[in-house]
Amino acid sequence: MGNWLPLTYNAPFSSNLSLAVIMSDNAPPRDFQSLPLQQPLLQNLKDLGYKQLTEIQAAALPAIVSGKDVIGQAKTGSGKTVAFGLGVLHKLKVERFRVQSLVLCPTRELADQVARELRKLARAIHNIKILTLCGGMPFGPQIGSLKHGAHIVVGTPGRIEDHLRKGNLDLSEVHTLVLDEADRMLDMGFQAVLDQILAELPQERQTLLFSATYPKTIDALATRVLRDPIKVEVTTAHTESTIEQKYYRVENNEQRPTALYQLLANYTPSSAVVFCNTKKETDEAAQSLKSAGFAALALHGDMEQKDRDRTLALFANGSASILVATDVAARGLDIEELPMVVNYHLSRDPEVHTHRVGRTGRAGQKGLALTLVSKKEIYKVERLEEMLQQPITLQELPEPPKGFAPPRPTMSTLQIDGGKKQKVRAGDVVGALTGEGGIDGKQIGKIQVFDFSTFVAVERPVAKKALNKLGNGKIKGRNFRSRIVGV
Ligand code: ADP
Ligand code: MG
Repeated sequence: MGNWLPLTYNAPFSSNLSLAVIMSDNAPPRDFQSLPLQQPLLQNLKDLGYKQLTEIQAAALPAIVSGKDVIGQAKTGSGKTVAFGLGVLHKLKVERFRVQSLVLCPTRELADQVARELRKLARAIHNIKILTLCGGMPFGPQIGSLKHGAHIVVGTPGRIEDHLRKGNLDLSEVHTLVLDEADRMLDMGFQAVLDQILAELPQERQTLLFSATYPKTIDALATRVLRDPIKVEVTTAHTESTIEQKYYRVENNEQRPTALYQLLANYTPSSAVVFCNTKKETDEAAQSLKSAGFAALALHGDMEQKDRDRTLALFANGSASILVATDVAARGLDIEELPMVVNYHLSRDPEVHTHRVGRTGRAGQKGLALTLVSKKEIYKVERLEEMLQQPITLQELPEPPKGFAPPRPTMSTLQIDGGKKQKVRAGDVVGALTGEGGIDGKQIGKIQVFDFSTFVAVERPVAKKALNKLGNGKIKGRNFRSRIVGV
């Protein structure tokens, strides 16, 4: 990744929280090489091209490496995984083949992301075994993997607790516990399950808690679970400077689909996420956009994993331009440049609102955050004004421009029925698509290889040609079925 924005400590919005910001007398380190980490880890960071620490890493890593309990609050995309990942790996004793670290994440997607990042960081140290244990996956193979053992377990609370209860998982030697996206885990109702897991962990351990927001419920959890923690908070200054926020008046809920259309037709973002409070609204908004001709997709927690994977892949690779999502579902989304977000309803929780808005305008890009507000929601606006310490003005919806037609996405996606388990790699796919009778490498976009399928984006006009080429050729000496999946 490229440059990191200058960040400031302590959100202007959180002045009511008492925060102990560390390193009062020492400037935070900016360079990984200045950290007291094992040499192979440092070398690997160099190889990965990670040079500068992000703010949260700079602020949290010294405390993490010194073995302190740490609460880290920073927005999505700020590099929290590397922060706790390095802490976990630095402490790990490879020769001791027991579960030494447990990382809990709210969803399978996030757990997979975290495990992927950990494997990247761990590749310099031989034989580190990282196991993911998530719901929605078959039980049997997980039991098998557990029998083989692991150093680090990454998973979702429900499934971890299942394995504990059935006696498949021994956590008695865990010395580091990570609660990633802790706020989301509580939102998803994992409190009781977390407590059950905590009861199985040694008291003597290091606990690291990460969260994008810091509501009272998290404070309560932290007080119970962490010991003498250091709290590190990093908030991007650009929430205020480069994100433009606008609030639009709607009469009632019935008007929202039309209002959404009018906003998209006026601002014509190349892509946008529309945030909804409920699954029902998600479906409603996505449906109305589709009928209006937008390449829109819905994403919510009730979807089957394979549908979620496909939806996220299509949006991330430019085959769909609008993603309509609930907060929980949108968590797994790792998108660098999002020009616009729309709040279909204003969130009840001002912190959630801030978090949603923070998804746009990343990486120094300008962002636009639009919010629909009805009369019944004025109380939420007042609450937000109070938190922001700023007045909010509601404006009238713009008229849609005449002769507007929703833009088609630039890419199309081919889904190949083969993935990691069939040893398919991105390079093989490029090979199969290019060459004699194929398409140009430049016309290929993002390639995502999952366990049993692969999604490859190609420029829309050459999608058929690409599909034909795949149909006539082989990948890894095999013929995989493939198709165009679009919106
Ligand atoms: P968060 O958990 O805070 O949402 P992630 O840990 O997922 O963020 O990191 C977001 C992205 O930033 C990842 O793609 C990661 O590889 C990258 N990243 C993390 N730290 C650095 C760094 N120091 N330099 C460059 N890229 C980084
Ligand atoms: Mg994260």
